[in-house]
Amino acid sequence: AVSMVGVNKWFGDFHVLKDINLEVEEGERIVICGPSGSGKSTLIRCINRLEPHEEGQIIVDGHQLTDDLRQIDKIRSEVGMVFQNFNLFPHLSVLDNLCLAPQWVRKMPRAKAEEVAMTYLERVKIPEQAHKFPGQLSGGQQQRVAIARALCMNPRIMLFDEPTSALDPEMVKEVLDVMIELAEQGMTMLCVTHEMGFAKAVADRVIFMDFGEIVEVAPPAEFFASPKSDRTRTFLSQIL
Ligand code: ATP
Ligand code: MG
Repeated sequence: AVSMVGVNKWFGDFHVLKDINLEVEEGERIVICGPSGSGKSTLIRCINRLEPHEEGQIIVDGHQLTDDLRQIDKIRSEVGMVFQNFNLFPHLSVLDNLCLAPQWVRKMPRAKAEEVAMTYLERVKIPEQAHKFPGQLSGGQQQRVAIARALCMNPRIMLFDEPTSALDPEMVKEVLDVMIELAEQGMTMLCVTHEMGFAKAVADRVIFMDFGEIVEVAPPAEFFASPKSDRTRTFLSQIL
């Protein structure tokens, strides 16, 4: 579903992604971890072209990412993204946050968009919050709204960038539970997270990045029990 071949990216002189090669199959769950500044966010942001890459190929569901704006719109409508800080529209109700893209991008009639929105709010267990504004919800509830909003577009791939790291500890589980359920339903997922319990429970492969490189890729059992690289070992000893 996602193929990255020889991808390189620079911010000015700074080489942020170094020869990234990664094949993600449909239905696969990938967890990406690594030190701050190692390029994790940049990597997943390249997949829906929130960041352009300078070298190499990124193919998402058979479409190669280029500057073609129509192509980019198409990919963005198939790739859902969830950010650390929720990124909800604060001036719109929860329901309006969910209906916006289906109505304007998919041209869905309002009644149908609301029906879809309510289905996903029930999935993330907060249908009763539909008419509130984001600022009236807890962090965990806001993040579940953000996930539901992405799902309303019926994405084929979901990208998560540290979805629980801005949450108070007691709210982490309610968001991880939604992500685990999504994984069990077969969604293709790339998740930047340091929640290693989540990685062990659902990841097919764990990727460790450092200084813009993919240093190690392995199934979780192997990744945690016998990391091959010293850099991975050092990182794990700091976070576990
Ligand atoms: P964190 O764990 O802190 O979120 P990360 O692994 O997600 O880190 P990135 O956000 O991908 O790291 O950033 C990688 C590097 O690129 C960092 O050194 C960062 O300062 C730099 N960087 C990120 N975005 C930009 C930008 N728009 N312009 C210039 N440099 C950037
Ligand atoms: Mg980041």
